[in-house]
Amino acid sequence: MKVSRRDFLKLSGAAAGSLLLPGGAALAVREAPQFPLRKKVGEVTTICTYCAVGCGQVVATVGGKVVNIEGDPDHPINRGALCSKGAASLQIINNPRRLTKVLYRAPGATDWEEKDWDWALDRIAQRIKETRDAHWISTGESGKPVNRTEAIAFVGGSQNTNEECYLWVKALRAMGLVYIEHQARI
Ligand code: SF4
Repeated sequence: MKVSRRDFLKLSGAAAGSLLLPGGAALAVREAPQFPLRKKVGEVTTICTYCAVGCGQVVATVGGKVVNIEGDPDHPINRGALCSKGAASLQIINNPRRLTKVLYRAPGATDWEEKDWDWALDRIAQRIKETRDAHWISTGESGKPVNRTEAIAFVGGSQNTNEECYLWVKALRAMGLVYIEHQARI
């Protein structure tokens, strides 16, 4: 069957949704599957974990799994923009190499042991108490009370909020720490 260009246009216009086969047979064309334009996602805002600029991000989840992270257009610092590190934040979450459990290597040991958080927090508290008690300085060289320990140091992170920093410093000063630093200054 010979089909001119004009015939072809007429046929395709008249028989939209069908396909012309050699010999004049027509085959119904299956309707394209309907994909929803927007998936149902849960969105929460957060702060980029990488640096002290503290760009705002919108994290989208589907069924409890993070599926997208993008700049928060309402955030006053970045107005929706992210640098290449922040834009690649999804790989921090969905990464088989991400450490999600407490690993402990005992003094002198060569292997890491898996521990639970209760054990780790008790151990940290115990070590802080022991170290603080063993290295407590009540009075300074001039004889004035100083009530401090120089045996423990604290390093904060860029993503600690003002409120977290306030609480950290309150707790650390109460414990007598004087070496309180920030990772961006190291
Ligand atoms: S997006 Fe880039 S500039 Fe913004 S906080 Fe993250 S690493 Fe820093």
